[in-house]
Amino acid sequence: MIHHHPADDLLLAHAAGRLRPGPALLLDVHLEGCADCRRQRQLLHAVGGALIEDAEPLTLAPEAWARTLARIDAGGPPPAPRSAAGVRAGPGAPGGGALAPPAGMNWPQALRACRSGGWRWMGPGMRFARLTLPADPQAGLLLLRIGPGRSLARHGHDGMELTQVLHGRFDDGRSGFGPGDFDATDDTVRHQPVVQPGGECVCLAYVERRLRFEGRVAAWIGGWVGL
Ligand SMILES: [Zn+2]
Repeated sequence: MIHHHPADDLLLAHAAGRLRPGPALLLDVHLEGCADCRRQRQLLHAVGGALIEDAEPLTLAPEAWARTLARIDAGGPPPAPRSAAGVRAGPGAPGGGALAPPAGMNWPQALRACRSGGWRWMGPGMRFARLTLPADPQAGLLLLRIGPGRSLARHGHDGMELTQVLHGRFDDGRSGFGPGDFDATDDTVRHQPVVQPGGECVCLAYVERRLRFEGRVAAWIGGWVGL
């Protein structure tokens, strides 16, 4: 059961191809697992097309909405997320198998386009892996793998941070997030994600600019990791 979804403006930007490769990948992964958002994205895409088609006259024709819905109904199932098509074959993924997932989870198809050097230590019970995309090697993409009961240091943000939960659960004081959930934060949010006891948590994260960790050790580790 997915409780947290991308906002409509992000879905619309994704549908219009206006997102940079990093955030687009987060959306691709979310859409792969969320039928509700695939429908919503398709609706927004169709409405956007209808608004352009009906730009003359400026008011939307009364039947435009019905035509839009009919077009959606006639369109069959929504298309697969862009990066899921033509994925590089290989055992596991991303990086053609360089990253072993925890038991009981599989990597989303959309991540197969990524490359990675493998898991690296970032603290007791915490590992990370940088992901690079051929289309944008500096995309600011990370996988975080955090053990049960562990927490990422409290931090704020200099820009947008997008998180897609792939496995396990965490709570950051704002809400609880589980498998398939999506979160977007910006420079107005300070939080400390704490992984639930009982299982590790794996998240895909996009960090637009740097995180601002509270505490010298956390800031040092954050700098080393490239957060
Ligand atoms: Zn969704």
